[in-house]
Amino acid sequence: MTTCLGLESTAHTLSAGVVDDAGSILGVASDTYVPDEGGLHPLKTSIHHVDCFQSVVERALGQAGTALAGIDVVAFSQGPGLGPCLRVGASVARALATFLGVPIVGVNHCVAHVEIGRLACKVDDPLTLYVSGGNTIVSAFDCGRYQVFGETLDIALGNMLDAFAREAGLRHPGGPKVEALARQSVTYVDLPYTVKGMDLALSGLLTSAVNALPGHPIADVAFSLQETSFSMVAEVTERALAHTEKREVLLTGGVAANGRLQEMIRLVSEGHGATFHAVPRALAGDNGAMIAWTGMLQFKQSGGIPVEDTGIIPRWRLDQVPITWRS
Ligand code: AMP
Ligand code: MG
Repeated sequence: MTTCLGLESTAHTLSAGVVDDAGSILGVASDTYVPDEGGLHPLKTSIHHVDCFQSVVERALGQAGTALAGIDVVAFSQGPGLGPCLRVGASVARALATFLGVPIVGVNHCVAHVEIGRLACKVDDPLTLYVSGGNTIVSAFDCGRYQVFGETLDIALGNMLDAFAREAGLRHPGGPKVEALARQSVTYVDLPYTVKGMDLALSGLLTSAVNALPGHPIADVAFSLQETSFSMVAEVTERALAHTEKREVLLTGGVAANGRLQEMIRLVSEGHGATFHAVPRALAGDNGAMIAWTGMLQFKQSGGIPVEDTGIIPRWRLDQVPITWRS
């Protein structure tokens, strides 16, 4: 049995996971930085990661019932993400791999969200809607890559919900709070809907929703914000599904926890004869297990990479990565 230790540190979460080559998740532990006020400050977030990486790694190894000496491969999130945060994960991974004398693998964070979904939901070739604090991407496998069919032109869906909540005086993370408020209303406040071809834009919608707050009950605005933004990602997902004719739809990323979004994407999927799958909550947000599993797939296909090639890639796109382990 080969085991891989994966380290995730692209944004707010420092996480470690341990998997084996059969796809069993042996351990996963996380510590998420929550700012007292405002959004994520990259440097403050990275200091949080430095402070907690040892306990997080020890907890993941403890769950897996193994010691560091039992690890055969070390994988880390090489990008995309916040530079200072990525640097913490890369440094820890380099130190551990060098100390243990084992191969190191750099993983694309977005690819990892897709791969953990394929593993956890037992799907083979899905159209994927990946919606999180940092990303909003509709993608599917074609010609050796996870091609991007549509994406946000400005901010991510989760970031938009968090920023709205912050303006409304609610604490981070705002997504779940907006969902709870939205459930209390069915009154639609008119908000701008912006889909451009296969891409979408969310910052104008955010501004309009914040501006609507003084004149309307917050539940009505939260409901309208969800209905508008979720319809936008559903439209792009539906068009990509009709074009690619995939038989499975995978919803992943932190916003995948939202019940209303799940309901909408399920309707779109079933309307096109595709099955709908939401990644289980524990694996939908950023986690070390997805990095460990994707690292394992990469390692089995092409081995480790030289330490000189382990520099972070803060703007690494999903569609730049050759997916060598799929044909
Ligand atoms: P991630 O970046 O993948 O770790 O996901 C974090 C994002 O998911 C944050 O923007 C959260 O506000 C968002 N999120 C978590 N739960 C929900 C929910 N129930 N509804 C909407 N957004 C959510
Ligand atoms: Mg993510």
